[in-house]
Amino acid sequence: MKNALSAMNLKLCDNLVYARPNGGRIKLPVEVIASIHGYIQNDRHKPEGGGVMLGRYIIDSQDVVIDKISFPMPGDRATRTTFFRKKRAHQQVIDRAWEASNHTCTYLGEWHTHPEPHPSPSSIDDTNWKRKLKNDIVDSDSLFFLIVGTSEMRMWEGHRRSRTITMLKLL
Ligand SMILES: [Zn+2]
Repeated sequence: MKNALSAMNLKLCDNLVYARPNGGRIKLPVEVIASIHGYIQNDRHKPEGGGVMLGRYIIDSQDVVIDKISFPMPGDRATRTTFFRKKRAHQQVIDRAWEASNHTCTYLGEWHTHPEPHPSPSSIDDTNWKRKLKNDIVDSDSLFFLIVGTSEMRMWEGHRRSRTITMLKLL
């Protein structure tokens, strides 16, 4: 576990940038990574945590920046391997950020933690992500899904029309 932790600490001094299938990039700034750090399941008693991701589509490019995330809130139910978000509280975070930013800070997707070093989506994640691609009302063609493992953060992009989900490569 010590090795996994130091691997994660290394990444804490830099932004993470992932390549999108359409040639664009999605950036996870170091400040956001640092704010997630306390939720990493590096202790066997820590429950899964998660929330929504908010940010911007950069004009005249395919680039996306994650500016802020929401954190586990009262009413969320978490166990070691499951996380259920209480919808209303997280929706309020989305609505407030949208208003405060003059309608630039928008809903991009979701994040949650996994108690494994190199996370991959569970079958429940896969079902939930596909449901979001189908039902979430957003202007964009894509939603992003981040899983925070104990030594790696991995990002997936889901395409709403085709409902395909692709793991993104770190640049
Ligand atoms: Zn999961």
